[in-house]
This record gives sequence, C-alpha cells and structure tokens, in this order.
Amino acid sequence: ANDRAARTARLESLGQLAGGVAHDFNNLLAIILNCAEFIADEPGEQAAEDLARIRDAARRGQDLTSQLLLFAKHEPAQVPADSVDLNSAVAGANDLLGRTLGGNITLRCTTYGGPLPVRTDRGRLDQILLNLVINARDAMPDGGVIDVATDLVELATGSAIMPLPAGHYAELTVTDNGVGMSAEVRDRLFEPFFTTKAPQKGTGLGLATVYGIVLAAEGTITVDSTPGVGTTFRVLLPVVAPPVADGGRPTPAPGHGHG
Ligand code: ADP
Repeated sequence: ANDRAARTARLESLGQLAGGVAHDFNNLLAIILNCAEFIADEPGEQAAEDLARIRDAARRGQDLTSQLLLFAKHEPAQVPADSVDLNSAVAGANDLLGRTLGGNITLRCTTYGGPLPVRTDRGRLDQILLNLVINARDAMPDGGVIDVATDLVELATGSAIMPLPAGHYAELTVTDNGVGMSAEVRDRLFEPFFTTKAPQKGTGLGLATVYGIVLAAEGTITVDSTPGVGTTFRVLLPVVAPPVADGGRPTPAPGHGHG
C-alpha cells in the first residue's frame, strides 16, 4: 500500500509537471508562430522587431527545457544501494551555505551525536538541504536565523506520521523565522512549477525535487508554518543500519521484511 501511494504521488507530480510544461510551451509557441506569420508582409523595422520576439520566446523555451532536464536528473529512478550520513551532508552544507547566505542571515546547525545513514546519495541530500535553506533565506528578506537540526527518532507502530512504518528515522528539520505561508500556498507547495517568487528568482521546482527525493528514500516531508512567524520543514528518512538495541541485538530496519 505504501508503494502504491508513493507511485500515485509520483504520477500526480509528473502529470502536473507535464501540464505545466505543455502550458508554458504552448504560450511560447503561440508567440513564435504569430510573429513568424506576419514577418513576410511587414516593413523591415517591424520584421526586425518580430524576429527579436521570436528569438526571445525561443530562448525562454530553452531555459525551460534546461530547468526540466535538471529536474529530471534529480528525479530518482530507484533507491540507491548505498547509504550516506545525513550529518556529514549537514556539515558540508554548513561550509558551503554559510558563505552564500549573506550577512544578515545566521545559519545554525545542530546535529545528532551519532551517524545517521540514510538510503540516498550525497548529491540528493545536498539538493534537499540547499532547496530548504535557500527557501528559508528567501522567506527572510530582512534577515534572521535558519536552524538546521538532525536527530534520531523512533516511530512506534500506529504512529501519527502516516504512512511511515514503525522503526528508526533520521530527522532533518529546517526552521526559519520568516514570512511563513498561507494555507493556499501550503496546499500547493510541492507542485512542480508552483512558485510565489518573481519569474527570474523562482522556478517552482525546488520542493517538487525535494519531494521526489524523499519519496524515493521511503521517507516523508511535512511542513508547519504560521504567517508572520515562520516555517519548519521536517524530513524523516529511514536509517539504514539502526542503532544497536539494549540487548546488543540490532533492531529491524523500518520498511523492510514486513507486509
Ligand atoms: P521556488 O523556490 O522556486 O519558488 P519551491 O518549490 O522551492 O520553488 O517553493 C515553492 C513556494 O513555496 C515558494 O515560492 C514559496 O512561496 C513557498 N515556500 C517554500 N519554502 C518557504 C519558506 N521557508 N517560507 C515561506 N514560503 C516558502
């Protein structure tokens, strides 16, 4: 049932993606066709103007395809066999992002005191961190604090966080004290091409990408946001090699060997 829900969510994402692309491309092609149709009958000056419009529309089409290719590249086809430590990705992101964020933003990282191996790769973890932290920065135009934290959590059977099976999870939270978001925005957050940012600033593919990566790693992402107060994104990913339990026997990994 878990697999089917994930597949359905993925198909929905892809459907929305295809719809968004078709719509944008249609608009660009309409501009190109319109201008091309009139060029032959137009005086030189007007024709040059229409040619420039055609070039412009074609360029925007090109931008759109490059963004799409980027998105497709990060669309995980299958769960990688290897695992990677969430904490080391956070440490790396701290170095990388600290310098990029700008003077009025403070990045605070608190990591769990042991390894948190999760079933994805470093590139994808970086994608998750980068997108969540950049969004947090964009939500605080006047500056503020971004808290990035990792932890080990244990979900009991029948836990409130559906549809995750019971077991140990690596938790990543990214919290900002920025503008927050309305219920309407929260509902559409993970849709490909949904953005409230200026066209040059946002593609609307960031959280759709994050969502795809988290699903492929058999995890979940949730958001808690209050307008004017701030936002917390919470990612849970099953840990690959769970910590040794009190009796010295490893506890079973979540999501495997059941159902
Ligand atoms: P983009 O960043 O290109 O707009 P995303 O998919 O990353 O695309 O985000 C979609 C939208 O979700 C953003 O345009 C913004 O409205 C909202 N959003 C994401 N993160 C936050 C945040 N931390 N605080 C407030 N709004 C956010």
